[in-house]
Amino acid sequence: MTGSDSTDTKGGPPAAADFAAERAAMLRAIAEEVLWTNRYLGKTALDPRVVAALEAVPRHEFVPPDMRAAAYENRPLPIGHGQTISQPYVVAVMTDLLHPEPTHRVLEVGTGCGYQAAILSRLVAQVFSIETVPALAREAALRLQRLGCANVEVRHGDGYRGWPERAPFDGIIVTAAAPKLPPALVDQLAPGGRLVIPLGPRGGDQDLVVIRREADGTLDRRSVLPVAFVPMVAGK
Ligand code: SAH
Repeated sequence: MTGSDSTDTKGGPPAAADFAAERAAMLRAIAEEVLWTNRYLGKTALDPRVVAALEAVPRHEFVPPDMRAAAYENRPLPIGHGQTISQPYVVAVMTDLLHPEPTHRVLEVGTGCGYQAAILSRLVAQVFSIETVPALAREAALRLQRLGCANVEVRHGDGYRGWPERAPFDGIIVTAAAPKLPPALVDQLAPGGRLVIPLGPRGGDQDLVVIRREADGTLDRRSVLPVAFVPMVAGK
């Protein structure tokens, strides 16, 4: 194991070199899986801006301390409260499917530990993220602030309703599976905007779906990839 895991960084910002070798290995694993799945994705490599964001964000800061050694493995990990941090390949593909641009305002449903939000914060102007578990929302907001992600706003709430006060959004990314398309999220999509969402039953056949609102308001729908996400819970 390389990386300076033993360095005491308590209270200070993480050194940029921390886990650099592990992060590079994670990027190779993602690139390989993109190649294997190129028929689904319709491409053999991801947007270089997305890859650069994955290279920059310290994933080990987003997992519980006892999971740090595994933080860069290409698989989901438990983050407490029965929830998980998504697999790096899935984060990479979903971010790529969103076609993030520097001017975009993006809504995320399912903040979890905040990793996906941190990736987006490097790619778009503003990120709004909703989480249904209050403790996760609170911890993610503090973590993102500590890591300097100043353009992310996190709030506790029900993602099924979206965030009407901040709508419309150029992109909406949902990181938990919904049984069907939440109408509020479609309503909050700006013309030209994309909604990336896993659709399907709990623990069953789920499809990663991209909905695009065309300039004339019509919706275009494409199924990209079979996936397995934790279920989106109904509103509180
Ligand atoms: N994006 C996260 C992955 C989180 S897993 C990351 O980068 O790590 C999915 C998250 O969705 C969980 O934290 C879960 O609590 C949250 N969630 C489930 N249903 C929700 C809802 N209706 N509204 C908001 N968040 C929800």
